[in-house]
Amino acid sequence: MGDDIQLDDDCIFCKIIRGEIPSFKVFEDDASLAFMDINPAAPGHCLVIPKHHAENIFVTPPHASAAAMATISKVAPAVERAVQPGGINIVQANGPAAAQSVFHTHFHIIPRHLDDNLLMNWGLNPGDMDEIGAVAEKIKAELD
Ligand code: AMP
Ligand code: ZN
Repeated sequence: MGDDIQLDDDCIFCKIIRGEIPSFKVFEDDASLAFMDINPAAPGHCLVIPKHHAENIFVTPPHASAAAMATISKVAPAVERAVQPGGINIVQANGPAAAQSVFHTHFHIIPRHLDDNLLMNWGLNPGDMDEIGAVAEKIKAELD
């Protein structure tokens, strides 16, 4: 690992990166790691993490997020070929209301099957265009 890799002594995912606790690693490069989730939502459920300790996506440096995304681009098609599900969700949680339980930024690769009843589908319910436009303006103002 390079000198620019920042890890945390107490973080469970940093311990996996350092090999201090066991994991089913499926892919690793200098800046990211993919390993199996031990509480899988479906067979093939794995996690991709940057080798940079940061609590959530808000404070993860873009280069670390980009490294994880590049690995997702490699691993998700491999999961697709290996498991042949009906689809795959890439999920990333930030904060308790988003059901984040490990505070090292990570991306779930979750194989999906029709009628698997995973509660992740918010459906296609048309929104209120005025409300959507108003929130878009608020977000854009934060990006100025
Ligand atoms: P989240 O709820 O989005 O923070 O997801 C954290 C995920 O990490 C959960 O799906 C857990 O099952 C998974 N997890 C926690 N500890 C481990 C571990 N030691 N090895 C593999 N996966 C883990
Ligand atoms: Zn960590």
